[in-house]
Amino acid sequence: MLQQTQVATVIPYYGPWLARFPDFAALAAAPESDVLHAWQGLGYYARARNLHAAAKIVVAQHGGIFSASPLETRKLPGLGRYSANAVATFAFDQPVPIVEANTARLLARLSNLQLRIDSGKGQELLWSLAATLVPKRNARIHNSALMDLGALVCTAGQPNCAACPVRSFCAAEDPAALPLKKPRAQLKQLTEFHGFVSDDGRVLLEQSRDRWRGMWMLPRLAAPPAAAPLLHRSHFPFTHHRVRLEVFAGTPTRALRSQRWFALEEVASIPLPSPHRRALTDLLDQQDAGRGI
Ligand code: SF4
Repeated sequence: MLQQTQVATVIPYYGPWLARFPDFAALAAAPESDVLHAWQGLGYYARARNLHAAAKIVVAQHGGIFSASPLETRKLPGLGRYSANAVATFAFDQPVPIVEANTARLLARLSNLQLRIDSGKGQELLWSLAATLVPKRNARIHNSALMDLGALVCTAGQPNCAACPVRSFCAAEDPAALPLKKPRAQLKQLTEFHGFVSDDGRVLLEQSRDRWRGMWMLPRLAAPPAAAPLLHRSHFPFTHHRVRLEVFAGTPTRALRSQRWFALEEVASIPLPSPHRRALTDLLDQQDAGRGI
């Protein structure tokens, strides 16, 4: 959950997730729609699918026991060097380094790194520097301290060097100018068209096969219909895009193979990506207001 996501965002999901899937066996046995539903709103759904796939492997091949060795766990889907090492150090106190956004910034400044931290060479230098610093004992505390130092003192923009406990051996000449990074790509605008089709307490939804694979969304339209009124417009970010979601009134037709009618009471229990859930809530509110409910 913490891959590319802040702790504050994850906290409301973590407890309910553990209550629903208390161990690998429970997660491995769950249908994918339950897993996506529990993840709904956290975004980056590939993480949920990877975790589900990893749980199946842990159960089928490792007796339900998650290995303490990051070399082993890196073979699981969704676990790269950072995630495997983070679990190894925080769960098992293994003396392995971690490099994430906060420690990367801190280490780049400590070493006055003049390479881009998102380049292959820059990454390798950061990982080897982190490896030279990690102690054999209490690596968990050390790694946690590095992350906190980056998050609270050696912050992005203007770091608080006057309060920094490692100031005496920091080599940064111009801390605010570090770390070096590739300039961000400009967001591209994208418009997506969908239809709102409802009939007698039911709504027609379509199962996504790409971006939100396995989740349900409002049926896709290839182009905005000429005559149908626009009922909803909203925006959401997706990777390097700012997506404009436009929903038009549709008329009930026979459902396509990827589509299904759902009773409105069912909708809360199926996985919908947040932009479509918000749109659907708005559309149903409009419908209720039109009926004077
Ligand atoms: S002295 Fe400043 S730049 Fe160096 S690690 Fe501390 S906060 Fe960061």
